[in-house]
Amino acid sequence: MQQFYDRFGLRKVINARGPATVLGAARVENKIRKDIYDMLGLSVEIWELQRRASEAIVKLTGAEAGCAANCTAAGMTVALASCLTGDNIAHIKELPTVKGPKNKVVIQKGHVIGIGDIPATQLIRMTGAEPVEIGEALDCATFHLEAALTEDVAAAVYVMMDVFPPNLLPFETFLKICKAKGVPVIVDAAYDTDFRHSIALGADIVVHSGQKWLGGATSALVAGRKDLVHACYLQEMGIGRPMKVGKEGIISIISAIERWLERDQDAIIARQTVQAERFIERMAEEPGITGEIKRTRFSPSVRVVMHINEEATGVPAWLINAQLGVYDPVIKMDDYAIHQGRMEWDLSFLDEGDEQIIMNAISSIIRANRNPDQAKKRPEPMTRMDGLYRTFHQWLDGDPRGEQ
Ligand SMILES: *Cc1c(COP(=O)(O)O)cnc(C)c1O
Repeated sequence: MQQFYDRFGLRKVINARGPATVLGAARVENKIRKDIYDMLGLSVEIWELQRRASEAIVKLTGAEAGCAANCTAAGMTVALASCLTGDNIAHIKELPTVKGPKNKVVIQKGHVIGIGDIPATQLIRMTGAEPVEIGEALDCATFHLEAALTEDVAAAVYVMMDVFPPNLLPFETFLKICKAKGVPVIVDAAYDTDFRHSIALGADIVVHSGQKWLGGATSALVAGRKDLVHACYLQEMGIGRPMKVGKEGIISIISAIERWLERDQDAIIARQTVQAERFIERMAEEPGITGEIKRTRFSPSVRVVMHINEEATGVPAWLINAQLGVYDPVIKMDDYAIHQGRMEWDLSFLDEGDEQIIMNAISSIIRANRNPDQAKKRPEPMTRMDGLYRTFHQWLDGDPRGEQ
């Protein structure tokens, strides 16, 4: 595939971060690619394709109905819109002016993350709704939620991830309070690999990514109450239009669900565990670096957590990360905890031997940056977002992979 990269002037990426949008999301396997390829050459009635997607989504999630959306952020937008308008087409065609009686959307302050890179509150405002943040950054209590659920609340949003502070409201509590007030709960489950969990507990609508762990092309699945899902597709006649999903995205959802349901998870984990152990053994050869295996619901794969002890390596984790990002091939991992000396390597999209290439790169970066003269010339550490947005600013001009 080097030829492909060369033909289009692209640098190869070793992606141990997982299906991040900025890295092109999932590496889509052949059977799904074949279905997308075939679909692209044919005509089809979209409502019928969406009905088949609904059947596949019902099978996967246990929900009453489902539809495909263009991505998780798009799915969240149409799900919110459906709570504002129901199936009233006249109201749908007025958004972001809300004609219905309810226009507020409640979210815990600690859940105000990027739905992708769009702040959750901006996404809510896009529909015309008014976001109501409850609680504090690190805490939320039942009284916050109970007080916020007034007559004019159209929906409440919950984000299903394991990165949040531990003292926000648990999903079950959040759901119970919203149910008692008749307020529908919309769940952003983009990274959740348990496709039945939120629905089984009683969520009204759940959005899962199609291009993350499901392994398809850019798309999302929206699953939930039939009346709300019905209204989601209708949004394509209104504010959902500029984010509509095409036949390639809908077929991708159906095909990726088929693949997911026949996935031999045990065999995949067994193979990845062998690779993870090789990876960790190689880490142990590097003074100051250790690794351990981690499994979570928020990846279907084995992950290796790497700890970098700067005292021993002489080079901080953030600098190693920055230099891996300008390496050839580009090497990316989950760097959320980089300023705490931690890198997380997800094995989903690694090829055999990539772990050796990665460790050789890290060893050479440490050797090149360890001496005190080099240390004096180091740039200031940057926050994750500053680093990322500096690259985004230079995408058209300059050298985003330049001096770090
Ligand atoms: C990735 C992600 C999104 C955005 O997904 P897209 O499909 O790229 O729109 C939203 N929410 C969470 C929690 C995510 O991880």
